[in-house]
Amino acid sequence: MSTVTDHWRLSESAADFIDEERLNGLLSRPADRGRVREAIAKAMGKEPLDFDETAALVAAGEPDVCEEVFDAARRLKRDVYGNRIVLFAPLYVGNQCTNDCRYCAFRRSNPAAVRRTLSPAELRAQVEAMENKGHRRIILVFGEHPRYSPGFIADCVGEVYSVRAGRGEIRRVNINAAPLDHEGFRTVKAAGIGTYQIFQETYHHATYELIHPGHAPKADYLWRLDAVARAMEAGCDDVGIGALFGLYDWRFEVLGLVAHARHLAGHYGVGPHTISFPRLQPASGVRLPERWRVPDDEFKRLVAILRLAVPYTGLILTAREAPALRREALALGVSQIDAGSRIELGGYTEAGDAQVLDHEQFRLGDIRPLDEVMCELLLDGYVPSFCTACYRLGRTGEHFMEFAIPGFIQRFCTPNALATLMEYLVDYAGPATRAAGEAAVERELDGLPEGDRKDALQGRLRQIRETDERDLYI
Ligand code: SAM
Ligand code: SF4
Repeated sequence: MSTVTDHWRLSESAADFIDEERLNGLLSRPADRGRVREAIAKAMGKEPLDFDETAALVAAGEPDVCEEVFDAARRLKRDVYGNRIVLFAPLYVGNQCTNDCRYCAFRRSNPAAVRRTLSPAELRAQVEAMENKGHRRIILVFGEHPRYSPGFIADCVGEVYSVRAGRGEIRRVNINAAPLDHEGFRTVKAAGIGTYQIFQETYHHATYELIHPGHAPKADYLWRLDAVARAMEAGCDDVGIGALFGLYDWRFEVLGLVAHARHLAGHYGVGPHTISFPRLQPASGVRLPERWRVPDDEFKRLVAILRLAVPYTGLILTAREAPALRREALALGVSQIDAGSRIELGGYTEAGDAQVLDHEQFRLGDIRPLDEVMCELLLDGYVPSFCTACYRLGRTGEHFMEFAIPGFIQRFCTPNALATLMEYLVDYAGPATRAAGEAAVERELDGLPEGDRKDALQGRLRQIRETDERDLYI
């Protein structure tokens, strides 16, 4: 059968690797404490888990066994990622869309959606507003529409990088947009993007078909499943995958994500840079059955299981979730969050405190200002980081796995995180955040061994405090 996209070329590794029979077979196995402990032991050795092992964790529903999984995830996160949390914010560029995804306010059949695409001047105004809050890393978000061609996306990226507000600048632009072909991915890569993120939404074929009706581009399951592989072949070595939890059984989706990560690692020598696990939120005119809604306690389980299953993949927890849950889930293995986010088109300059569903894709659970989130993170013992050093020094993808290099975090990540934190404290923080941040910097410095590296870092921090010098990374 021909599809709307079969004139485009799939990747070299293209295959529908989601073997439902096999995954369902694994999911129907009874819980087994012994296998859970074996999986935990393997994960603690920082080895990625296979399907059997991940399925053992998924089956482990007894409260005391879940506690063991949580505890292991917390320890693994501390071991691999330390206490840094990377911060970013989304910037919606346009919500025109030719697809009809049943969960999304931007679907073409939603007459209530207020359609808008930011002009270059409007885009710049949003970026200025974000820079003035202290943001350094953003993700541009687009509907799927001929207007949002690779060239258009690349122009937006260039525009964003060119904006300077005071000492502010955006140093990493990631993308969440439609799957492209090889040529398209090359075009956006050439514009200097960081990660290209595409969520499969659901790995379950029948559900995928049901919620992506008609002949819209997104109805093609394989074209989407294969997208990040094409991106990698086109040179985008940082790719992000994800599933929208609440469309189908979360247990199946976790195995789907692991299958996707393993497929990429098997074919390209490196897995996805990040995994996202957004939970379905209320959206304009969206009425979906509640059957697969993921309760909070199961959501925490899936975060912990992903942490153990893919130790070297960053986990992104978005502002869709409410503050209290974000705080709990962070400790279970999350490495990146967005903060101070607005998802209305033009929201960083035009939105007040209220969210208007017809103007946005879905409702956010956490719209606290960036500074409030920074303060909470610092008081909770985290080091919020805006670091972009690895990507800018070409330390990405296949040839580089920062977490696998012994001592890398102490040598590079902690100093770079502290330098970007100091920039934030000096240039943007309110008094409470500044105080909490200075205390955190002292605490981290105390933990570093004496020597040239520590002296050099202290020198950089002094420069940031006392001069206009910024962007001092190693
Ligand atoms: N249009 C592109 C696409 O579909 O890939 C760009 C991404 S879309 C604007 C961003 C993501 O938001 C989607 O991939 C989906 O997972 C998520 N999303 C859509 N509707 C949602 C809802 N009601 N609640 C939570 N997340 C939602
Ligand atoms: Fe369009 Fe993306 Fe929303 Fe689907 S999820 S309707 S493709 S914006």
